[in-house]
Amino acid sequence: TGTLYIVATPIGNLDDITHRAVKVLREVDIIAAEDTRHSQKLLQHWEIATRMTSLHDHNEGQRAKQLIEQIHSGLTVALISDAGTPLISDPGYSLVNQCREAGIQVIPLPGACAAIAALCASGLPTDQFRFNGFLPVKQVAKQAALEKLTAEKATTVFYESPRRVVSTLEAIVSVLGAERKVSLAKEITKTFETFYHNTAGEVLAWLLADDNHQRGEFVLMIEGVVVDMADLPEESLALLKSLMSELP
Ligand code: SAM
Repeated sequence: TGTLYIVATPIGNLDDITHRAVKVLREVDIIAAEDTRHSQKLLQHWEIATRMTSLHDHNEGQRAKQLIEQIHSGLTVALISDAGTPLISDPGYSLVNQCREAGIQVIPLPGACAAIAALCASGLPTDQFRFNGFLPVKQVAKQAALEKLTAEKATTVFYESPRRVVSTLEAIVSVLGAERKVSLAKEITKTFETFYHNTAGEVLAWLLADDNHQRGEFVLMIEGVVVDMADLPEESLALLKSLMSELP
């Protein structure tokens, strides 16, 4: 049997691909790409002549079956997505899951991921974070998702589209308050890369101040709530102490 490689590709700057990724993409029998036309640019740039097939949200079930048969017959396959790491808010879960079930070797080739790039340069705590992908589009569901973060201590990382970034900031202000700290990372590794960190109210004002601020690709990070013992009222502290003394 062959092997399935999960290969990270750049999130903007075409140089953000590893030597190993280029080598593997040249050597495999088939590259399964989310959008073959989009990925053609990357393959041309790195002189990769491997045959491509498409694997996207709408054909993943069927295509996964075919690919697994091909891998069983001895072919090697590399999965890539339009940008960054496959499966991270991108197709591939069903394929990898079925490969594992079928006993096929799955090898990751690590590389760019917008969430991790944004987080590590944001200045927000990184010891605990949650990746939440895209927020729901519908306003009611979006608010419900944000309500879960009222007492969240970890940094929460979201992907956001330029069409919805303003309405999402409005929802954050209304659900979590204008003072909650937010970081926006925009166009990472591209010409207009920008990081902006401020209160939710100020970040919303910044977006509204200039249409250009709303363009591009965004990673949105919401800082966790910081509980400072000194801020707690006397009674709460006393209660906390007596509760803790009861613990085994
Ligand atoms: N699999 C990708 C990864 O590993 O980052 C993410 C794919 S998801 C469909 C696309 C979203 O990722 C965009 O809407 C945006 O939120 C984020 N994103 C991708 N590239 C980005 C970049 N260069 N700068 C900021 N955000 C980016």
